[in-house]
Amino acid sequence: MIWEEINTYRVQNEINPFVVFEDSLMRAYTKRVAEKNINIFPTKHSDSIGYWCNTECLYTNRTEGGLNWEERINRIISNDFDSYVKLAVQNWINSPSNNHQISRKDIEVATIYNLIIIDHSKKSIRFDATFHGLSNEPNSTFDNNYNYYLKKMKEIPKSLTIECPDCGYIPKNFILFFSLPMSNYNMGHKKLMYIKCRKYMCTFEGNIIDWIQLQ
Ligand SMILES: [Zn+2]
Repeated sequence: MIWEEINTYRVQNEINPFVVFEDSLMRAYTKRVAEKNINIFPTKHSDSIGYWCNTECLYTNRTEGGLNWEERINRIISNDFDSYVKLAVQNWINSPSNNHQISRKDIEVATIYNLIIIDHSKKSIRFDATFHGLSNEPNSTFDNNYNYYLKKMKEIPKSLTIECPDCGYIPKNFILFFSLPMSNYNMGHKKLMYIKCRKYMCTFEGNIIDWIQLQ
């Protein structure tokens, strides 16, 4: 939810939103940082920025006492964390250094780990949000074991061909191949027409997207 709230803020400021909510190695690290901070006040920034991530933001909110206690507890029990989401993101927006981090254009992968600790005897609630982001720049982590840029490069298809996924038939004349389906599409019904494979014995038929092969 905080992740989405930051994305809304990014889009409002004409910054591309995060594309990946990381829920693997980086988030495991985020969880470790968050759990280490349970017994620390004020919370401490971690010492491994550059290994697992390229940015870190911490937010902590503590309340103690009976004022609105029932109401606050009921909201948490019914999974209504809106006020905490707003508090955390607004706090980061208001702090120039955190605002810089959540607004970084090179961060496309980000994760959040939240903790809520309730002490009924003290009527205290503690909410901690821990944010980590990974840069898409080359060599953004020291040992390159966890490099989003390289991972992304590997995922980008190197070639795009038009061929039958069943038999590998490649149409000889692409303009001719596409002319009928395209004119049909543009005629108004905006549906992708099925194109039959012309190879002898092949029974494949599919729309243009089915014919595109990425390697
Ligand atoms: Zn075919």
